[in-house]
Amino acid sequence: MATEREKMYECEVRRRRVKAGGGYEPYWKVKSVVDALADDDTEFRCKDCHGPVKLLGRNGKNGTVPHVEHKLSADAEFCPSGMPFKKATDGREPRHSAQPVEFAPAHHQQAS
Ligand SMILES: [Zn+2]
Repeated sequence: MATEREKMYECEVRRRRVKAGGGYEPYWKVKSVVDALADDDTEFRCKDCHGPVKLLGRNGKNGTVPHVEHKLSADAEFCPSGMPFKKATDGREPRHSAQPVEFAPAHHQQAS
């Protein structure tokens, strides 16, 4: 069977925003992979299952559009954006990644 690659053109990127009361706090923002590259974002995850993703097609050769795909095939099996999930006919329920990408341990911030 021909391998159909999943192509997800949207992802979540780690951004930070000013926190009420001072300092910054991280948050995840959904954006297109194209925009994420234009903005030099470096941390990505799947917007649906929060699993780690690989960035592909970023050099734009041969008309490829930058996109991401799951690093873990187990994620794709149960992610609403995953090709294996979409093709599954067993009525499975989507679920989040078993290894979700979370924020790196936060720098210690002064409690106010
Ligand atoms: Zn996913």
